[in-house]
Amino acid sequence: MVYFVGAGCGAPDLITVRGDRLLRRADVIIYAGSLVNPELLTTAKTSCEIYNSAVMTLEEVVEVMRQAEQEEKLTVRLHTGDPCLYGAIREQMDLLEELGISYEIVPGVSSFCGAAAAVKAEYTLPDVSQTVIISRMAGRTPVPDREEIARLAEHQATMVLFLSTGLLEDLSVQLLRGGYSEDTPAALVYKASWPDEKVCRCTVGTLLQTAKENKISKTALVLVGRFLGDEYQRSKLYDPGFSHEFRKAENGN
Ligand code: SAH
Repeated sequence: MVYFVGAGCGAPDLITVRGDRLLRRADVIIYAGSLVNPELLTTAKTSCEIYNSAVMTLEEVVEVMRQAEQEEKLTVRLHTGDPCLYGAIREQMDLLEELGISYEIVPGVSSFCGAAAAVKAEYTLPDVSQTVIISRMAGRTPVPDREEIARLAEHQATMVLFLSTGLLEDLSVQLLRGGYSEDTPAALVYKASWPDEKVCRCTVGTLLQTAKENKISKTALVLVGRFLGDEYQRSKLYDPGFSHEFRKAENGN
């Protein structure tokens, strides 16, 4: 059996209880390089074989899984954050299907959640945005044209951009082209939940300068939108004048 486990975005106690239990039982762990906190690996059994997938190809990773399966071993494939985002798990699962090897996915705390916690922000504020757009700039991995940042920015929704810290100049241009103003609030969150976490609040116009000043060039998320500002409406759910299934309004409506 192979388990794809979300390691969480950094702090070792952000892995789920289920993920932690599997790590302790694993005979083989294949972890996704430097973004997985090495402290998590210290819980492994002494007999556990540990591989760093940063230096492996897809075929090599799957070969380790195949051999482990043949020896009836339990394999944990440890991915950063949650495996469903930029985790390259689909191609692994497809090869496992071909080999007839069973697998399951155990979710984790994605860095987009860790970043919101670091900023102490809520992405979905009434009257500001009820939508979170998760995307990235095209790099060596292309992004379909219809998902160009400028086009996504037209929604003026909350945006969380992965894998884009090296492309901030272009990112700002695209955000402005899409309709955000220079002074739209933004933030760079470097290594959310790690001991060296940095939170830098800035604006769409000052993203590049802020990254340079704080020496941030990777392992960061870019957050954009008015959810980082001061204006919003209170929620209906907790409004004393609003009745719903579980609570009657104070004024009887
Ligand atoms: N599956 C992961 C994302 C992997 S892609 C998740 O759910 O978070 C790797 C990118 O994620 C990095 O380049 C960076 O943009 C972002 N990232 C991962 N961990 C991070 C962290 N602790 N703080 C900020 N960004 C992080």
